[in-house]
Amino acid sequence: KIILGIESSCDETGVGIVRLGADGGLELLADEVASSVEQHARFGGVVPEVASRAHLEAMVPTMGRALHAAGIALTDVDAFAVTAGPGLAGALLVGVSAAKAYAAAVDRPLYGVNHLAGHVAADTLQHGPLPQPCLALLVSGGHTQLLLVEDIAGKITEIGSTIDDAAGEAYDKVARVLDLPYPGGPPIDKMAKQGDPNAIAFPRGLTGPRDARFDFSFSGLKTAVARWVEARERDGEPVPVPDVAASFQEAVADVLTAKAVRAATELGVDTMVISGGVAANSRLSGLAAERCAAAGISLRVPRPRLCTDNGAMIAALGAHLVAAGAEPSPPDFGATPGLPVDTVLL
Ligand code: ATP
Ligand code: MG
Ligand code: FE
Repeated sequence: KIILGIESSCDETGVGIVRLGADGGLELLADEVASSVEQHARFGGVVPEVASRAHLEAMVPTMGRALHAAGIALTDVDAFAVTAGPGLAGALLVGVSAAKAYAAAVDRPLYGVNHLAGHVAADTLQHGPLPQPCLALLVSGGHTQLLLVEDIAGKITEIGSTIDDAAGEAYDKVARVLDLPYPGGPPIDKMAKQGDPNAIAFPRGLTGPRDARFDFSFSGLKTAVARWVEARERDGEPVPVPDVAASFQEAVADVLTAKAVRAATELGVDTMVISGGVAANSRLSGLAAERCAAAGISLRVPRPRLCTDNGAMIAALGAHLVAAGAEPSPPDFGATPGLPVDTVLL
């Protein structure tokens, strides 16, 4: 069976196509992404109106490129999946409307699915079926969550989440303080390689002995970095950008991996998946590999292309739903900006 996935929750217009084998295995046939990230760069963050307009312009061409890359026609698609939420309302509307139109045109079922579950499903395109239950650390521009995945096609429970900024958001804000380009993850990652991660002791939010839960906080860290840089500038001293980047990155990777490993251990789960844009971070995956190995947990991190927003991950989740025999979404389902992570399918 061929499943086509459409993603438009933020600033990437993605169309992915996968083939679901009789054995439940997935083959990636196409993964086309058009990003409006450059249009948002000068604002230092995604501008919703600009993103919606860009989706509208990119949707049909991206669909054309994906079908061409897979070497199929629209009539060859057996089922469609689309991100129904969470995300920006206007951005989601473009994808959901397009998906309804394409599915109706060829009279195929349509699954309105959860973007966050899609991030987790992306890993199955690279590493095969997910051992379940597993723990997912989802770290992106808008989310930072620990999820217990008992069934990717239906049972996902949030066990922790950020109480303020997402990890990616902290990267983007710190990049701004350091005069590095937007989005901040890649340039900070690169700078950090030339710096000393122990140069500055930045705070690790919510890691005290009384913080037994699995929530995260990055807003204090972001403020601490800004204060540190301001103090330097006030004293007329140069800012050692590589050391600040490395020390900030170390604080983020330390907190994320420490909590994720503790959660997996306490829940008795022996597989961890890291996904979302920040999973592309070299120190996060490096430290996670070390700590997971020490704790006897097997770690899966998809390649960077599958970590950031794309349509292939939505197609993958759609394929898992088809394989599980799930009912397609009702024809009147809408875009749901605040869709909770435990709702995998509308
Ligand atoms: P969400 O999935 O929560 O709706 P989003 O679509 O913005 O949000 P992604 O595209 O998954 O999220 O991730 C984008 C974020 O990933 C940005 O904040 C960016 O700075 C961060 N990022 C990308 N590469 C890296 C990296 N190497 N290190 C750290 N962060 C990174
Ligand atoms: Mg993005
Ligand atoms: Fe995302």
